Amino acid sequence: MGKEAFNSFVTAQFQFDRTAEWLGLDLPTRELLRSPLKEHQFLIPLRMDDGSVRVFRGFRVLHNDARGPGKGGIRFHPHETIDTIRALAMWMTWKCALLDIPLGGSSGGVACDPHYLTLREQEQLCRSWVKRLVHELGPQVDVPAPDIMTGAQHMLWMLDEYESLRGEKVPGFITGKPVGMGGSVGRLEAAGFGLVFALREALKELDMSADGATASVQGFGNVAQHAVRLFEQIGGRVVCVSCWDQKDAVSYAYKKEPSIEVQALAGITDRFGGIDKEKAAKMGYDVLPGEAWLSQDVDILIPAAVENQITEENVQVIHRRVRVIAEGANGPTTVGADRTIGERGILVIPDILANAGGVTCSYFEQVQSNMNYYWEKDEVLGKLDVKMTSAFNDVLEFAKKKNLPMRNAAFSIAVARVAQACKDRGWV
Ligand code: GLU
Repeated sequence: MGKEAFNSFVTAQFQFDRTAEWLGLDLPTRELLRSPLKEHQFLIPLRMDDGSVRVFRGFRVLHNDARGPGKGGIRFHPHETIDTIRALAMWMTWKCALLDIPLGGSSGGVACDPHYLTLREQEQLCRSWVKRLVHELGPQVDVPAPDIMTGAQHMLWMLDEYESLRGEKVPGFITGKPVGMGGSVGRLEAAGFGLVFALREALKELDMSADGATASVQGFGNVAQHAVRLFEQIGGRVVCVSCWDQKDAVSYAYKKEPSIEVQALAGITDRFGGIDKEKAAKMGYDVLPGEAWLSQDVDILIPAAVENQITEENVQVIHRRVRVIAEGANGPTTVGADRTIGERGILVIPDILANAGGVTCSYFEQVQSNMNYYWEKDEVLGKLDVKMTSAFNDVLEFAKKKNLPMRNAAFSIAVARVAQACKDRGWV
């Protein structure tokens, strides 16, 4: 096979076509679901702090809302493209359906690098993004949330802008808000914790104990940090994490035996998940080339950074000891690499399942915001555990019954639910 093309939307459509074929979907349903229902792409001129003007590109894509209002993150990333957003929106549709949440799928963002934007500039970008989309968003229409390089503060600026444009309070407009300002306790931890709930079930299935199990992680942002924390709490050891280094414009892996110290590492990490290389070296970490995370002699790999990281070119370096891959990122594994991983018998907890804790808790947050009544943390995390565990077991059971890889099983369940919703509405 030749060099793979790393276009996430091509991957997402390939996954969909394969599933549609397997499910025997009719042609109109295939046509409806293989592309987004609606796309918005626009320019945002921004007055910078130094008085100059720069023009940024903004996006919002609604893939499908047959099961409920669109739901999905807003990413600030310099390499953002409409195709990445299309893929993310489609994956959100499947994710919500798989977790059986009454929401559709969407995604959005701004092509920008917040490392080089002041807080005021970021605030203006958030407000302009909402101004351009005010008629396309809303608690019953499409509900944004954080994603890579956006967080609670961005959500609050966006909420504030939306509410001032509407002239009313609409706390269910957006999720991932700060706790105390309409946010839900547990939302920050949810994606990482949800991943570990699913991982715990996978280990049970493989007759492996979490106690003493080892893992290597790509990324050290919100998903990765919380996954590492909970994984350690259930007895696991993380020996390596890798992340992007903004200064050198490459990534590095940080390795320490018997395990990394998550608290101390988080203390030398910026708000975008970048670890301070010099400080880490002083703390006794081996600083290795970024790709070293993938070749570690561990039981579990957790790609929790960005898409297209495990490819046909590097999949061979995965150590023979690896038994589980839990995809914290969206789309971290290319189609070619996925084939090889399947042949090696590694259990994959696919992205639309492994990282679904984030949107599941977003749904809980929206419910709380709409009621204006907030739950305790134990209640939120308890409900999250129930949702993740039952979705994991649904996928596992389906995979066994139909003799399918976990990814194909997850997609089949999700796509079938969405196709059914479209049919029930009389769309196709
Ligand atoms: N951006 C996150 C994801 O990809 C969360 C989306 C949400 O909470 O709506 O799942």
